[in-house]
Amino acid sequence: MTVTVRVPAKVNVQLAVGPARPDGFHDLANVFLAVGLYDEVTATPAEGLRITCAGPDAGQVPLDRTNLAARAALALAGRHGRTPDVHLHIAKDIPVAGGMAGGSADAAGALVACDTLWGTNASREELLDICAELGSDVPFSLVGGAALGTGRGELLRPLEVGGSFHWVFAVADGGLSTPAVYAEFDRLTSHVTVPGPAVSQDLLDALAKGDPAALAAAVSNDLQPAALSLFPKLTDTLAAGRSAGSLAALVSGSGPTTAFLVRDAESAREVAGALRASGTCRAVRVTEGPAPGATLL
Ligand code: ATP
Repeated sequence: MTVTVRVPAKVNVQLAVGPARPDGFHDLANVFLAVGLYDEVTATPAEGLRITCAGPDAGQVPLDRTNLAARAALALAGRHGRTPDVHLHIAKDIPVAGGMAGGSADAAGALVACDTLWGTNASREELLDICAELGSDVPFSLVGGAALGTGRGELLRPLEVGGSFHWVFAVADGGLSTPAVYAEFDRLTSHVTVPGPAVSQDLLDALAKGDPAALAAAVSNDLQPAALSLFPKLTDTLAAGRSAGSLAALVSGSGPTTAFLVRDAESAREVAGALRASGTCRAVRVTEGPAPGATLL
């Protein structure tokens, strides 16, 4: 028996970051939108736990038990008192360390794939619980669509979306570690009072209407100054996408992937062409969102 699960990448259309909490995490108001770039996680029976990965960025993905997909399999096996016997193969299309939650996607995919392969029949609540243990972005990878994440991002409320939004993503040459970006956020804000994070009602209205211009006016990412401070060249990528006619240009999550919201498919092609020609990024991807969460194929 072989089970394959498809899982989407995400972009944060709003990422409001509150002050550091005593546990070191930050309270967030995090509006996730799943987009149509996917990893596929395939589970096949094996003796012991084995991880393989293929794709252009596969060399950067750990194949030991630190892989988030392996951690998901171990967590599910542990809860159900069974050995984690599975070969997980990750067909990786989501940029690695790009701020698009690729590792989180693989964790959600591995969880659903193992649950199906092993017949553990975990409830939706249990799956979401395990996801939240594995990382702040993992529950969203399971549910997909659009959602507001609060707490450290893991408490999810699904959001209504009135249409499909067109996006262009510029993949940077290099990665950024999410903890390093939060540390830079703390450093840059050490002399100011960081307010509690609040979601923008204008942004929620724009999503509900499916209105790209209104969404473009409302997108924001509080981690952007920190990502730009650590990766100054992203300023050139953002400028290239803006001057090519994108409605909004922002760093995706903790970066260094940059995200460009565009009017329609034609504008997406133009912005993608200009970004490729600019020489300010390693690769360019065109897609739409919202996309469904973890899906059994
Ligand atoms: P986020 O948007 O959730 O902050 P990200 O997209 O920036 O995450 P990931 O691609 O999830 O970053 O990977 C971050 C790091 O996690 C990688 O550099 C890698 O060392 C490690 N990692 C562990 N498991 C995986 C996985 N399955 N896929 C990719 N990276 C993984």
